[in-house]
Amino acid sequence: MDTPNKKCIICKRDENDIPLTKFDYKNTSFWICPQHIPVIIHDPTQLVGLLPDADKFEAV
Ligand SMILES: [Zn+2]
Repeated sequence: MDTPNKKCIICKRDENDIPLTKFDYKNTSFWICPQHIPVIIHDPTQLVGLLPDADKFEAV
């Protein structure tokens, strides 16, 4: 299933602007640029509002 929003979930740049990498979460595909991958790793609370249940990441 292709996601209609092929853009970095954070900066919203698309594949024409920057390389994007796909990740899957809750049976949905999301895209993120290399610049923002560290946000997922180090500061996932920034994803609250961008990803469903992102507020629960910290509790893991
Ligand atoms: Zn980005």
